[in-house]
Amino acid sequence: MAKLLEGKPLAEIIKEKTKQEVSLLKKKPVLASIQVGENAGAEAYVKSQKKTAESLGINYQFHKLSQDSSEVTLIDFIQKLNSDKSVNGIIIQMPLPSQIDYKKISQFISPDKDVEGIHPANIGKIVFAKAKILPCTPAAVMELLKETGVDLYGKEVVVVGHSEIVGKPLSLLLLDRFATVTVCHIGTSKAGKLEEHVKKAEVLIVAVGKAGVIKGEWIKEGAIVIDVGINRVGDKIVGDVEFVEAEKRASYITPVPGGIGPLTVTMLIRNLVEAAKLQQ
Ligand code: NAD
Repeated sequence: MAKLLEGKPLAEIIKEKTKQEVSLLKKKPVLASIQVGENAGAEAYVKSQKKTAESLGINYQFHKLSQDSSEVTLIDFIQKLNSDKSVNGIIIQMPLPSQIDYKKISQFISPDKDVEGIHPANIGKIVFAKAKILPCTPAAVMELLKETGVDLYGKEVVVVGHSEIVGKPLSLLLLDRFATVTVCHIGTSKAGKLEEHVKKAEVLIVAVGKAGVIKGEWIKEGAIVIDVGINRVGDKIVGDVEFVEAEKRASYITPVPGGIGPLTVTMLIRNLVEAAKLQQ
C-alpha cells in the first residue's frame, strides 16, 4: 500500500521558512490581486490567499474591476501596478469574463512581479536552469517529489498533460534533474499509446483534468504517483488517476484533494518573497 504524499504538512514547513524570510525584508511585501467581475470560486480562492498571505506578514491588496471591463482596461490597470514601486507581485484571479483572453493579458505583468511564474520571460529562463520564479504547480510537484527522497537521475518519468502552466514547464524542471522524461497528451491517447507509456513510469505525474483517465492497473509496482488533476464528480473532488487501485501498486501517491492543491498557494507566496528580494 502506498504512502500518502500530503501537501499540507510540507506547506506548513515552507510557510514557516517564508515567514522568517519576510521578517528579514526591509519592507512588508505587497501582493496585488485583481479580480474581474463576480465569481464565487474566485472569491473563495481570494479569501484563502489573503488569509495565507496575511498570516505570513504579507500585505494583500485586493482590486475588483467590473464584469464588463475590456482587455484594454485590465491592461492599463496591470501597467499601473507594474509601475507602482510599492507593489511586489501581481496575480490575476480566474476565471475571467469571456471578453478577456488570459494568455494575452498575463504577458503584460512585468516579469519581476509575475508571482505565478507564467510570463514567457520566466518560463524561458527554466530552459537555462536560471529561473528564480517558477510556475506554482510545477514548483509544488518538485517539492513533493523531494519529500519522497527519490533521486530523479536516469529515472523513467512520465508526465501526462502538456499545458503551458503545468506539463511543459514541469518537463523542463525534470530534465534539469537528468530524469528521462516522456510527455504524453491527447495525441498519445488518440494513438492508443497512453497505457504503454504510463506502465513504464517509475515516477508518474498527471495533469489532464479528466477523472479516471489513468487506470489504476496501469501503475507500475512501486511507482511514485503525483496527481495534479482536479475534477468534480457528483459532490466529490477527485483526481485524474483511479486512486483505489493505484494506491495498491504505488510506493507514494498524492491524495486529491490534499496533495498538490495546498502547496500551490504556498509556492505563490514563496515567489512573492523571492520577487521582493530581487526588487530590493
Ligand atoms: P489543460 O486543459 O491546459 O491541459 C490538459 C492536458 O491534458 C493537455 O496537454 C491535453 O493534451 C491533455 N489531455 C487531455 N485529454 C487527454 C487524454 N484523454 N489523455 C491524455 N492527455 C490528455 O489543463 P491544465 O491547466 O494543465 O490542468 C490540468 C488539470 O490540473 C486540471 O484538472 C486542473 O484543474 C488541474 N490543476 C491543478 C492545480 C493545483 O494546484 N492542484 C493547478 C493547475 C491545474
